[in-house]
Amino acid sequence: MNPPEEPSKEDCCNSGCNPCIFEVYEKQLLLYKKRKEGENASELFFPNAISQLHYTQFTVVDIAEICEAHKLLTFKLKSSDKNIRVTWKPGDHFLLKFTNANCSCTRAYTPLKQKNNTGTDFSIIIKRYKNGLVSNYLYNLKSGQDVLWRGPYGAYEVIPNKFSRIFMIAQGTGIVPFMSIIESILENEDDMTKLILCYCCRNVDSILLRTELYSMKCYWNFTYSVFLSDFKQNVVYKYQEPIVNHKLNKEELLKFVPFSEKDQFLLCGSTQFMEHFKLWLKIQEVENVFTF
Ligand SMILES: Cc1cc2nc3c(=O)[nH]c(=O)nc-3n(C[C@H](O)[C@H](O)[C@H](O)COP(=O)(O)OP(=O)(O)OC[C@H]3O[C@@H](n4cnc5c(N)ncnc54)[C@H](O)[C@@H]3O)c2cc1C
Repeated sequence: MNPPEEPSKEDCCNSGCNPCIFEVYEKQLLLYKKRKEGENASELFFPNAISQLHYTQFTVVDIAEICEAHKLLTFKLKSSDKNIRVTWKPGDHFLLKFTNANCSCTRAYTPLKQKNNTGTDFSIIIKRYKNGLVSNYLYNLKSGQDVLWRGPYGAYEVIPNKFSRIFMIAQGTGIVPFMSIIESILENEDDMTKLILCYCCRNVDSILLRTELYSMKCYWNFTYSVFLSDFKQNVVYKYQEPIVNHKLNKEELLKFVPFSEKDQFLLCGSTQFMEHFKLWLKIQEVENVFTF
């Protein structure tokens, strides 16, 4: 987390603006200190149970099938130490260690905090790829099996009010890091950032975190649209559920022009997906683009 940038004397127009740029800065600084203290305090009381430097053992405690290709897996810390917690920042990922008779490797997955989280568990949404080594291993895990994780890793920082609008363009499981970022911004009443999520999915069955997204529709500063490449007419959608029957295209994004330096774009999906939007944003001269 970075402290807010202090305005210089020249930044103030001396016309008695309400709020003045210095008042905004003071408020942001206060918020920053509060968050920093909070983080330090929780770290002090409960050191992180997961480490970036070595692997920690977790046990699979819950498995839920979301659709044909996706499952929600919940892992619980194996240690019974009551004074530690598994913590991470919004947008962070963990690394899983995979070993079989032929090889040993790691893969990144994004932790998700469930409502009934006990502090020593986390969940992931796994997408199974046809010939995927680790995704198939995870998809076929059974309750009670142990796995090794390390982390958290990630360079994204939520800085309250740094941007006026944050656009998030997600594909498939790319929604997971955005979910925690959205939640942390919406939970902070002092954060006035507007959040615009464009979520690309194959079909209605593969919309991940659908209920959670729908329940956040009521926030004044959050809007979302789900773009389906395979739209089915006879499916029952929720009341005013923002589902669009085509792929995300530039016309949809051009609705938000002009873009400015107060806008930030976050991209999360396959390499091809992110490259496509990165290129388009470059043409639009958008500067603040962060890829996960
Ligand atoms: C920061 C980060 C966070 C991630 N978070 C998640 C997450 O929360 N949930 C999740 O399911 N995955 C996530 N991933 C992807 C994950 O790390 C693995 O890449 C994925 O599970 C595939 O690994 P694999 O060993 O099964 O595939 P591999 O054995 O490495 O690849 C085998 C084949 O699978 C297919 N394949 C693999 N990856 C992709 C892909 N991304 N797109 C299209 N085809 C692919 C290809 O056909 C490939 O040839 C994340 C990746 C990163 C970098």
